[in-house]
Amino acid sequence: MTIILDVRDVYKRFGGIEALKGVSFSVRRGERVGLIGPNGAGKTTLFNIISGIYMPDRGRVIYKGVDITGWPAYRRSRAGIARTFQIVRPLANLTVLNNVIVGALLRTNDIREARERAMEAIDMVGLAGKEDILAKDLNLIEKKRLELARALATQPELLLLDEIAAGLRPREVDDLVYTLLEISKRGITIIMVEHVMRAVMNFAERVIVLHFGEKIAEGTPREVASNKLVIEAYMGTG
Ligand code: ATP
Repeated sequence: MTIILDVRDVYKRFGGIEALKGVSFSVRRGERVGLIGPNGAGKTTLFNIISGIYMPDRGRVIYKGVDITGWPAYRRSRAGIARTFQIVRPLANLTVLNNVIVGALLRTNDIREARERAMEAIDMVGLAGKEDILAKDLNLIEKKRLELARALATQPELLLLDEIAAGLRPREVDDLVYTLLEISKRGITIIMVEHVMRAVMNFAERVIVLHFGEKIAEGTPREVASNKLVIEAYMGTG
């Protein structure tokens, strides 16, 4: 069992708000992890700390055995950590292909190689045939797929998905989860922050639950769904 990511006792405060209060967990290489919790639980803050957008006040982030706590975001991206954002922001007037090439160029300066990586990523996310469409002309699910392709084009080993299923219809959620399971089979480790339980339950092998900046539960989707603390947290009584 190889640990790809080890988050150790991470704290983060914004003014008077303690967004994270000593969160620790590890992720195995190739694992599919769901990170859930009510609004304001600290999920996005944790992603921001793993991807290097924020530094923790205390605690460590260990990636592939290396302490990357002080590394800037671009260095983490080159080391194989990629993320998608809650609000998809493709470059609207660029084609699908060029959007993804921009992602690939984070990892290589060779335009031919970037194009190849981009084509592969477009294929992996199910957008083959749509390379020449302008990003602004895609529908929501296609925009989500594009966002995913842009992240994949950086050849990540660890992929962080921030609410990728938000706003999709159940059928679209299922299609996207299918795509994600295929991506996972390539050995890419995926952590999914998500409110859409249908996505988490069908995707994750293990679910971590945050509430008010603390980890309150961890287990299989089934275990977590029947955990009393989790149910209380979601009902607003925790
Ligand atoms: P949601 O599910 O609503 O996206 P979340 O679990 O992702 O919530 P975070 O966005 O991590 O939660 O926020 C955790 C807490 O930290 C919240 O109280 C939030 O208001 C606060 N917070 C997050 N980022 C900042 C910031 N840059 N400045 C001030 N407060 C922040």
